[in-house]
Amino acid sequence: MIQTIRGFRDILPEEIEVWQKIELEAKNIFENFGFKEIRLPILEKTEVFARGIGESTDIVEKEMFTFPDSKGNNQTMRPEATASIARSYVQHKMYSRQPEQKLYTIGPMFRKERPQKGRYRQFYQIDAEVLGIDSPILDAQILVMLNMLFKKLEVKNLLTKINSLGCPGCRKKYNEILLSFIQNTKDLCSDCERRKTKNPLRILDCKVKSCRNQLKGAPLLKDYLCRECSEHFKALKQCLDLENIKYEIDDYLVRGLDYYTKTAFEIQTLELGAQSAVAGGGRYDGLVEILGGPKTPGIGFAIGFDRLVEIIASNQEVKKEGPLVYFLTFGESAAKKAFKICNNLASQGIKSEMDFSNKSMKASMKKANKSNCKFCAIIGENEIEKGIISLKNMEEGTQEEVLEKDFISIIKKYI
Ligand code: AMP
Repeated sequence: MIQTIRGFRDILPEEIEVWQKIELEAKNIFENFGFKEIRLPILEKTEVFARGIGESTDIVEKEMFTFPDSKGNNQTMRPEATASIARSYVQHKMYSRQPEQKLYTIGPMFRKERPQKGRYRQFYQIDAEVLGIDSPILDAQILVMLNMLFKKLEVKNLLTKINSLGCPGCRKKYNEILLSFIQNTKDLCSDCERRKTKNPLRILDCKVKSCRNQLKGAPLLKDYLCRECSEHFKALKQCLDLENIKYEIDDYLVRGLDYYTKTAFEIQTLELGAQSAVAGGGRYDGLVEILGGPKTPGIGFAIGFDRLVEIIASNQEVKKEGPLVYFLTFGESAAKKAFKICNNLASQGIKSEMDFSNKSMKASMKKANKSNCKFCAIIGENEIEKGIISLKNMEEGTQEEVLEKDFISIIKKYI
């Protein structure tokens, strides 16, 4: 038996309803806010992520599936979608045709992390990004949109955390102040030791307990924001209050990617144990420029699709919809009749199925029951002789004979 690779998994037909439900709701809500879908390649030139996400981030340093093409140039299975969307914005010069773009994409991402519950090497994200708008009202709208989706999906126990990461101007000053504080700390983990020179901000959100303890009392970025960044953050909070979005300011939220500026956020749930982040995102006003485009503001988020499915599947029973009619046939001419009616129903958008097994009535009825159909249509020798079809209502347990010629118009009444 050949099995899937560690960290990779199948999503089976019996699990798919929740995925489809979430996808549909997300698309509906995003489109109500003016977003359009974009589909992007899974494989990109490595530099899209190395430049976009940042060389010194965990993702780029340790987690990417990268391999050379036939000419020795590195290519990478995308670990996230934001950098690809910015690459596409630049490549297709969207900025010259329509600089304001609201885009979403749904699909698999790949990271070479240690697989565990809620953490896979191929996982799925629902990603939405807005390019070309710098208003803090948009930042709030993005969070409203996310909260609206979670509410629609009846996800409870959520916590929206926000922070401001400032701009390169105020962050540079803060980095120096943070570094001088850190110089006095001992026993930081090896990752944080490395971050000291490469990316000191990331030390703030290290999950290692001893690092966290030592960082209590560290100077906070919020006290060093420039006027523009602090007004942006204030306006965001005011708009969230206008919509009664509950949030918590987390001074230690920095997120793992280099490109963030100003607003950063994460939505956490109390329902998933250790892997509590179900969505994360923020503003990235420098990314498009880093990837070779004009200076363009941007903001977006990624929802962890797998984790959202896990919460919803454990809390809600998503009803599996069966066919309207399931045909049981006995004999070849009955099967051919069912074959024709099934095709006719499908062409009219009505779901039906037929049993191909030619087994006993009892065995076939068992299959009909399992299919969760509303009606079971039985065609045997007797029915063919009389030009009728026996129609069993599975919910009520009643059975009637309907004329074959009237069958479709009768069944259509039950849609
Ligand atoms: P990030 O792109 O790291 O900000 O992640 C956004 C969201 O994707 C997280 O909040 C998680 O819900 C989800 N996520 C990230 N990495 C994984 C993974 N390896 N497996 C499953 N979900 C993930």
